Amino acid sequence: MPELYIDGQWVAAAAKGRHQVVNPFDASVITEVDDGDATDVDLAVRAARRAFDSGEWSGLPTRERADVLYRVHEFLLRDQEEIARTETLDTGKTLTEARIDIEDVANCFRYFAEAAGKDAGRVVDVGPGVLSRVVYYPVGVCALIAPWNYPLLQASWKVAPALAAGNTFVLKPSEVTPLSTVHLLRLIAEAGAPPGVANLVLGQGSRVGAAMTAHPDVDLVSFTGGLETGRRIMATAAEDVKKIALELGGKNPNVIFDDADFDAALDYALDAAFLHSGQVCSAGSRLIVQEGIHDRFVEALADRAARIRLGNGLEPETESGPLSSGEHRAKVERYLEIARKEGARFACGGARPKDPALQRGFFLQPTVLADCDRSMRVVQEEIFGPVVTVERFRTEEQALRLANDTRYGLAGGVWTSEASRAQRFADGLRHGTVWINDFHPYVPQAEWGGFGRSGIGRELGPSGLHEYQESKHIYQNLTPAPSGWFKG
Ligand code: NDP
Repeated sequence: MPELYIDGQWVAAAAKGRHQVVNPFDASVITEVDDGDATDVDLAVRAARRAFDSGEWSGLPTRERADVLYRVHEFLLRDQEEIARTETLDTGKTLTEARIDIEDVANCFRYFAEAAGKDAGRVVDVGPGVLSRVVYYPVGVCALIAPWNYPLLQASWKVAPALAAGNTFVLKPSEVTPLSTVHLLRLIAEAGAPPGVANLVLGQGSRVGAAMTAHPDVDLVSFTGGLETGRRIMATAAEDVKKIALELGGKNPNVIFDDADFDAALDYALDAAFLHSGQVCSAGSRLIVQEGIHDRFVEALADRAARIRLGNGLEPETESGPLSSGEHRAKVERYLEIARKEGARFACGGARPKDPALQRGFFLQPTVLADCDRSMRVVQEEIFGPVVTVERFRTEEQALRLANDTRYGLAGGVWTSEASRAQRFADGLRHGTVWINDFHPYVPQAEWGGFGRSGIGRELGPSGLHEYQESKHIYQNLTPAPSGWFKG
């Protein structure tokens, strides 16, 4: 079956291009998929435009749209194991993590099914003789561009609210990890979305993604990925003043005070930095540790990091998989070179693993860079790999300055047993999500997104739905009479 889904049909790419999808564990070819281009994008956008303008989706009672989302939730749980295995093959992440991802994807659909009908706008109190209402409308045709680290999860944060609000969309997953998204589109079709509402075009970002962003019939672009691509998308979208939502990653501080629960903070510092080989937009990749425990903490962290079991994500004993592609590993390795030149101390890692079983995959050892300071590029730039930098601090004020010393602002963590300090510190952090004595949890009910260069807009929560809505103020004079403003 071909892999592009346009106007309710599975179709081959117009130019008949094909693209190999590679398993990052051993560089083997999993399968080939269609490789679309601007012609396919144009067909998909036209289908989405027609479906939107017809009102067959946006004009449905909210309850009926929500029912489609509830069915997608149900089908995701039914197919959870199959999709999780696909995600593991495609990304290299462990099956345990992939299963959690798919459960989260299902929960995201359920949340937006519930949220769809909750907020019907509001009546504004203007005074007697006036009925003033603020109501919400779908934006229109949405171009949704998802990355390769959480292929289905990131796509669902866009697809579910876009559908719930009554939009139609064209979705492009990363060419590196397209397979789970093909499965999702099958489920959306099975759930009863009318033709043209949900469209999928696979292909390269520079061709398909760029064509989606530039298409004049697209009303909104929602993108998750790197800063440079985000900038390019923003510039292209400016041409037609499209609405945009951007999630562009971060360089996220994880601050450990002397009085923190040492073992818990250590355990979570490992998760924060090395979950999914650090290919997480909210990874705690910038560790900031108070001087009283600093040396002991770094030593223990390096010891534990060096013992993380790398391997095939499908094997139950594997704790961490490879990086997603050879190209991406090369980028992370360039940062290791920079760290050497900048004088960071390699407390562990810093190279490819020696294990003969891992030689064909895109593996890197978990790496702890000690003795870092704020002037280093490895401290300021998003590496997006299994690399954590460590800085030392003395006072709370100094720690806050360091934690906010970033052009990003996606997420941050603070570890302390003093409740008032925890709240004070959390208030002072300029980041979209703050964890106290924890790292990484998120819930679909709460907003996700960043300050500064981490992006524009929010996903999840009520704001995640509003991104896909236009608000309209309807003002009715109930007792019209001449105004008498102009006297002549
Ligand atoms: P990109 O930002 O290039 O990729 C993300 C998505 O954008 C993919 O679907 C990609 O398609 C698509 N894309 C690429 N170019 C364009 C374009 N010109 N117009 C529209 N869409 C486009 O990420 P990279 O793979 O290059 O990774 C670079 C860095 O970005 C990483 O090292 C990391 O620092 C960061 N990143 C952040 C993520 C996050 O969660 N915030 C996720 C991924 C990366 P395709 O892959 O098919 O080319």
